[in-house]
Amino acid sequence: MADKHDLVIVGGGIAAVSAAEAFRERDENGSILILSEEDRAPYRRTKLSKRIVDGFETDELAIYPAEWYEERRIELETNRKIVAVDPDAHELEDADGKRYAYGKLVLATGGAPVFPGTIPAGETGSFFVLHSARDAERIMKAARKAKKVLISGMGVLSVEIAWELHRLGKKITLVGATPQLMPRQLNLRAAEMLESLLADAGVRLHFQEEILSFERRKKGGYNVSMIRNSGSFDLIILAVGLRPRKELAADAGLATATGIRVNRSLRTSNPDIFAAGDAAEHEGGHMTWLWHSAEYQGRIAGTNAAGGEEEYDFRPFRFRAEVFGSYFFSVNKPRALDMAEMEEFEFENGSRYRAFYFSDDILAGIVMANDPDNAKLYEQAVQERWSLDRAETDLF
Ligand SMILES: Cc1cc2nc3c(=O)[nH]c(=O)nc-3n(C[C@H](O)[C@H](O)[C@H](O)COP(=O)(O)OP(=O)(O)OC[C@H]3O[C@@H](n4cnc5c(N)ncnc54)[C@H](O)[C@@H]3O)c2cc1C
Repeated sequence: MADKHDLVIVGGGIAAVSAAEAFRERDENGSILILSEEDRAPYRRTKLSKRIVDGFETDELAIYPAEWYEERRIELETNRKIVAVDPDAHELEDADGKRYAYGKLVLATGGAPVFPGTIPAGETGSFFVLHSARDAERIMKAARKAKKVLISGMGVLSVEIAWELHRLGKKITLVGATPQLMPRQLNLRAAEMLESLLADAGVRLHFQEEILSFERRKKGGYNVSMIRNSGSFDLIILAVGLRPRKELAADAGLATATGIRVNRSLRTSNPDIFAAGDAAEHEGGHMTWLWHSAEYQGRIAGTNAAGGEEEYDFRPFRFRAEVFGSYFFSVNKPRALDMAEMEEFEFENGSRYRAFYFSDDILAGIVMANDPDNAKLYEQAVQERWSLDRAETDLF
């Protein structure tokens, strides 16, 4: 018979850990089991792209040490990939055929990097992505020998990796379909500022460009042809996006769309199964892809799995990056389409830049560069929906 736990959590990220923590805070006695396919205890995934130069020891980035789990009687099993969920039997099965029974289940399976269709069949192993600590270790090793690096993608991850590899003296090219860097997090002006920092550092940027093919070189690496450019690279890192890992839920018959669909209590379409973090899709198709949000969602799922009644409140989307000697920050940066409907106030003084977006005289979002001391205040102002009058006195 399968071993039974009151709460079983599938996943080895922050959503999994915070679900376990919140469950234990509400339920002193219930048994808790975390099942993670990774080879180590949950760690600070966000650090991976910031530690390519400095590196890290296996357990150095751990969110909590082993004693933390012991003290709370949270069982953690690593190297356990779950391959099936049977909601009727309240059971799970791992890749070795071992079964686990649950009272309540939290799916905190996160996301997986997307591999573009242009990658030659059977060669995905020669390309690099950065999602797990193992991926980071592979990149650090490969980067030792590489001189020319191609990073596919124009998002935060690409820029953070470019910054680290630039510090290692690599020649870097970024290629992507978008007309600007970090379109989700930065407005045009902030992106331009960032772009000139990269250009000054010798990073080549190919915007609105598409990779057509990769041709493997005898000495390793690839010749890459694009629509308007071509080049030869020793190391290719793909950072073109993540897809939510919803397969377990979909195969079990739970409602899924982009991700695993949840209501505000973070319950899936099955009342005994919750989902939290990057894998969860909220009302209106909302996905979060952020550490602090995954942590918060994990707490809600864990609390509710223990009988609580908390609801997810769609907190502001906060972004922060320190790259190429500058600090970039935004809170609820509006989408380009919505921006057109908003009133924008921009202030630029040397490298310090701020843009405030108002909808019906209420502060809806902020984009900032090089004003770190006020980041907390800006976040508070968006969260509290400050009026234009108040912003004029206290922010501008
Ligand atoms: C390199 C990098 C840098 C980032 N930097 C930032 C940042 O600066 N700020 C920010 O807000 N966010 C950042 N993010 C995003 C942030 O890390 C994620 O939003 C957050 O980690 C999501 O947490 P999660 O627990 O939902 O999912 P994940 O962290 O993806 O964890 C999911 C876990 O589930 C495991 N799993 C999946 N399926 C199974 C299965 N079937 N069986 C067993 N285990 C399974 C996975 O192996 C993984 O351990 C970054 C992400 C990366 C990759």
